[in-house]
Amino acid sequence: MPASVPNWSVPDVFEPDGTEELPPELTSNADSSPASLTVESPGGSKQRDLGNGAAVSGSGPTAGGVERRVGKGSGAAKSTGTATAGNRTDVEPADLSTLLSVAVEAVGGSERDGQTAMAEAVDNAIASGEHLAVQAGTGTGKSLAYLVPAIRHAVTAHTTVVVSTATIALQRQLVDRDLPRLADALADSLGRRPTFAILKGRRNYLCLNRIHGNAPDEPDEGALFDAFAASSLEREVRRVHDWASDTETGDRDELVPGVSERAWRQVSVTGNECLGAHRCPVGSDCFAEQARNEAGRADIVVTNHALLAIDALDDRPVLPEHDMVVVDEAHDLVDRVTTAAGGELSGNAIKQAARKCGRAVEEEIADRLNEAGEGLEFVLGETEPGRLGEPSRQLAAALSGLRDAAAACVNALGPEQREDVESGSARKLALAPTQEIQDTAIRLLDAFEEPEQDRRDVIWISAENNRPPSLKVAPLGVGGLLRERLFGQRTTVLTSATLALGGSFDTLASQWGLPPQREARPATDTATAQEPTSDESEPSWVGLDVGSPFDYPRSGILYVARHLPKPGRDGLPDAYLDELTELVTAAGGRTLGLFSSMRAARQASEQLRERLSTPVLCQGEDSTSQLVDSFAKDPATSLFGTLSLWQGVDVPGQSLQLVVMDRIPFPRPDDPLASARQQAISARGGNGFITVAGTHAALLLAQGAGRLLRSAGDRGVIAILDPRLSTARYGGFLRASLPPFWNTESPDVVRGALRRLDEAAG
Ligand code: SF4
Repeated sequence: MPASVPNWSVPDVFEPDGTEELPPELTSNADSSPASLTVESPGGSKQRDLGNGAAVSGSGPTAGGVERRVGKGSGAAKSTGTATAGNRTDVEPADLSTLLSVAVEAVGGSERDGQTAMAEAVDNAIASGEHLAVQAGTGTGKSLAYLVPAIRHAVTAHTTVVVSTATIALQRQLVDRDLPRLADALADSLGRRPTFAILKGRRNYLCLNRIHGNAPDEPDEGALFDAFAASSLEREVRRVHDWASDTETGDRDELVPGVSERAWRQVSVTGNECLGAHRCPVGSDCFAEQARNEAGRADIVVTNHALLAIDALDDRPVLPEHDMVVVDEAHDLVDRVTTAAGGELSGNAIKQAARKCGRAVEEEIADRLNEAGEGLEFVLGETEPGRLGEPSRQLAAALSGLRDAAAACVNALGPEQREDVESGSARKLALAPTQEIQDTAIRLLDAFEEPEQDRRDVIWISAENNRPPSLKVAPLGVGGLLRERLFGQRTTVLTSATLALGGSFDTLASQWGLPPQREARPATDTATAQEPTSDESEPSWVGLDVGSPFDYPRSGILYVARHLPKPGRDGLPDAYLDELTELVTAAGGRTLGLFSSMRAARQASEQLRERLSTPVLCQGEDSTSQLVDSFAKDPATSLFGTLSLWQGVDVPGQSLQLVVMDRIPFPRPDDPLASARQQAISARGGNGFITVAGTHAALLLAQGAGRLLRSAGDRGVIAILDPRLSTARYGGFLRASLPPFWNTESPDVVRGALRRLDEAAG
């Protein structure tokens, strides 16, 4: 840790001024070395500095309708085609280090220790079959570090590697930028040009069967009663029809400008609604099928966590045969899998399913389902939103009635028959949602049979954003599922800038279903030389922190406004608004404000517009991408918003030199899933608060803090207005989850630093 306050008076120089000693209370924070995490984990394990910027620790054996788009960008993926048997090479591919050098040179970068350590660890995971969790800070170049060994493996072993991301932004970066450049660069060294594809759920592609009018339109309640809505829907659908004759991929993301969700529903199908290529009259031209076939021949298939989860959950595989998965943005995996494994019943969805059934079965049977939907809607409207222990008599009766009505429709729709295409399409479109309703009703009734403390599912009534109430169900945990269906099936590499929470991988590992880490291995025992764990029944894994090339203690300050009151329930206190005003003024704008609610973001925007001479933008006033664009272009502008900005803003340079967070982003106390998970862990003797709420907050804090330094020359301040980060017992865990910034609690020190930074930027 530097011994003095960073001096930002000299542009591009971030040197200690050598005069001001750190206040004593700041010296107790975690080791600030950027290359190691030496904080004691809650379980007592440590990670070791490997000397090359990597920290490693071992795992413990004691606990326990898809489509492919051929790569764009350079366009070469398309010209080389997909990997077929004819593409296989007899040339001995170059070794990893040569390939990595070639790749780094091709993208115009320089070799970095952390990137090399990560690439070697991924290569070792491929060779040993041992799973790998690797934390790689911003600037490591982690996509190259996993893509190069993954491509080498796919080409040499004639197999496919799946890369899964949480966000569309990263998916695009991989498919439009990284993979085309790598494929070009590595072709000679590998003996052929590697191929890649992007794979999405079937709903993301145009269904030609619908475009050709072989399937009935979706019932649309808004359009039924509103002539304006009907004509705007009609216009959107007509535009998609025009586009259908031009597009080569049918990929919704390539339709610009896009169309509303209800319009897209009219021209697409889910995997369960699809007729199947063998029965579909346009199956041979189907965009989804073509992409799926090409994906099956690609070396690298890029997909998202939702599809990865569906592939793991479903007995019918939706991803092509593969022997290795790289999960990037792995900090989001549990949430995405939880969503995919959840279910929902709403009156509206049930009535829509009934209308679809009405086209294919006797009216009386479909009416019964419609009435059951109305019955459930009524009961939900009479019940307080929140988590459900025991169902009321009315709710249990409504669910039983719904289960039976849905079963009657499913029986009447019957199995696949010899029928014409239109009848077959109508039957499929009705069967898929009705079957889902029946399955969810059965799942809920079964769960209610069990005592609440023994349930694997959490059930709650949701009434968010003034929408009609719905009944939701989600698994209490997804560790068992991931352990069996992901880690149990193939070698998995999990990576993100944020995985070691509180200095340890154990918290996230337990959510993934991996055993806790055993004692740290010696520094000489690198990730390339791990012995397998002794208990064969446990998934064996390695945790590795390759640090970041950024000099955090010299580039950034973590400021905690310890003198402020704790955040309250009724909006931002005046003291917070005063502090925010001072900070933004000192920074000359250049501020990203990350708030825990839209209400707080709006309140801060309104108040600061009155107090400041620099512009303030607020999320929701325009599209988020437009707002981020305006923010990036004008350094004097500040941007305030909530959750999507915590992870989605990438603005390097002088437009972003201050990130302010109003409070520690714990989940709401009435969040049904978080509170159920918390209670379950506490009941087993664990620390439910830290494991659930602490993990949630630590992940978001680290993601939010990650917005500040986006390139090696960036400088700035993370300001946390919530004093609990310094005063509460859990504060140490949260601070240890952040990069090793220089710390202060002094408003004068931080404002001085911001002013110097503003002056230096000019
Ligand atoms: S196979 Fe036919 S029904 Fe299925 S998505 Fe393709 S075009 Fe649509």
